[in-house]
Amino acid sequence: SKGGIKMSDCLFCKIIDGSIPSLKVYEDEHVYAFMDIMPLTKGHTLLIPKTHCQDLFEMPEEVAANLYKVAPKIANAIKEAFNPIGMNTVNNNGAAAGQSVFHYHLHFIPRYDETDGLKVEWNSRQAEFPTEVIQSIAASIQENLK
Ligand code: AMP
Ligand code: ZN
Repeated sequence: SKGGIKMSDCLFCKIIDGSIPSLKVYEDEHVYAFMDIMPLTKGHTLLIPKTHCQDLFEMPEEVAANLYKVAPKIANAIKEAFNPIGMNTVNNNGAAAGQSVFHYHLHFIPRYDETDGLKVEWNSRQAEFPTEVIQSIAASIQENLK
């Protein structure tokens, strides 16, 4: 049991073990990649670690390394297949961030045009974060990386 749920109850663990069907595009010893069942765009793919981790916060470094090692390969395969004009890779951590399946997954969302289904709003709040505030924010993060 990890991340508050039994792995046997985890949807994506079941996809990895084959007890729930999926459209697989890639698999190796460490990772599994398959089509998102409700795609935002043509080619929307998910990449997941075979080791159950709820989210990025609880992902061991080695699991992260093995996962991201494959990311360029997946991105380039989608690019070759459909010739998108761009691609968003998205990872939601926590319900508040939009996570709905609590087994880490990296979305690959190829982009075709402004009406392709994904709208990323980026509302900058620069006025709330003057340089000295950003400096102290940086110090807080740095302190926790020691
Ligand atoms: P998130 O909201 O970041 O947790 O993303 C979860 C994603 O998993 C959504 O895009 C769903 O469409 C997708 N999803 C849920 N169930 C399945 C499934 N059985 N097979 C493939 N994708 C799924
Ligand atoms: Zn899982």
